[in-house]
Amino acid sequence: MGLEINIDYIAAAVTDLSGTLLVHRTQERNNRSSLSDPLLQDLAVLAASVASDVRARQVRILGAGLAVPGLIDAQRGVVMSAPNLGWKDVLLDLDAIGPGLPLGVTLHNEANASALAHLRQGTGAAQDFLFISGEVGIGGGLVVGSQLFTGPGGHAGEVGHVIVDPGGADCSCGATGCLETIAGQDAIFAAAGLLPQTSHADIMAELLRELAGGVKDAVYAVHRAGWYLGVALASTAKIVSVNSVVLGGHFAILAPWLRSSLLTSLARHAPGRFSPEQVEVSIFGKTAALRGAAGSVVRAVVEAPHRLSDG
Ligand SMILES: [Zn+2]
Repeated sequence: MGLEINIDYIAAAVTDLSGTLLVHRTQERNNRSSLSDPLLQDLAVLAASVASDVRARQVRILGAGLAVPGLIDAQRGVVMSAPNLGWKDVLLDLDAIGPGLPLGVTLHNEANASALAHLRQGTGAAQDFLFISGEVGIGGGLVVGSQLFTGPGGHAGEVGHVIVDPGGADCSCGATGCLETIAGQDAIFAAAGLLPQTSHADIMAELLRELAGGVKDAVYAVHRAGWYLGVALASTAKIVSVNSVVLGGHFAILAPWLRSSLLTSLARHAPGRFSPEQVEVSIFGKTAALRGAAGSVVRAVVEAPHRLSDG
């Protein structure tokens, strides 16, 4: 089972061992500055509802992975920092979300989980790429040699907080001029002159209408986001020597309008490094993190099948 907490929704899904989605349910919920207890209670209800769906089809759920948009300590089940949720050092009672699961519930960073969902199975060749997750914040998942590279503290790949404009706006992380302050969802909406509405989905729909209609401010905001995304990716690619990118979240949704300025920026800031085919758009939409989180259970089963029989 894959579970996800994001800024404006919670979601639960179940896959089979091959990664095919059997059931997927999303519930809109404003999780900005939210308390973790009621949020987890709602998530537990959602998880129970998808679980009862698949149990009716004789499917046994082995374990669950929970993806959250923030820095985590997976070992302790602590969300160390999720500025857009307003969480700092929040200990989650993971067992309460999926009581009685043989492999329990594990915690994952949303971008890292999404990155793993994009590993192609059965190709044999080592895969190296950077997954960019565009939500309210911007996350990154670095895959090197088909393995997630998370660094010593487990937090490598935070492309959203690469500095692209040293004198720029204040970021949720405390720094100034991070990529997120220009290419995060809120930053793009603000630059396009779109006022806050009831949900991000509504504002995104309005932005897409304006882009289709060629409204100047909207087109400019998205081009600018693409250009600065290119700046951050060029710098990152040079440091980690990964020359392939998968765009997820709003970067995937906005790709038709963002791709040209992104490619121009990459050609300018990292000449000869990225061919256009190496800048891919995620095919998983909003299900990437869920698929990756559920996939973590499948990997756990493959790596240590005895854990199931040991109970
Ligand atoms: Zn930042």
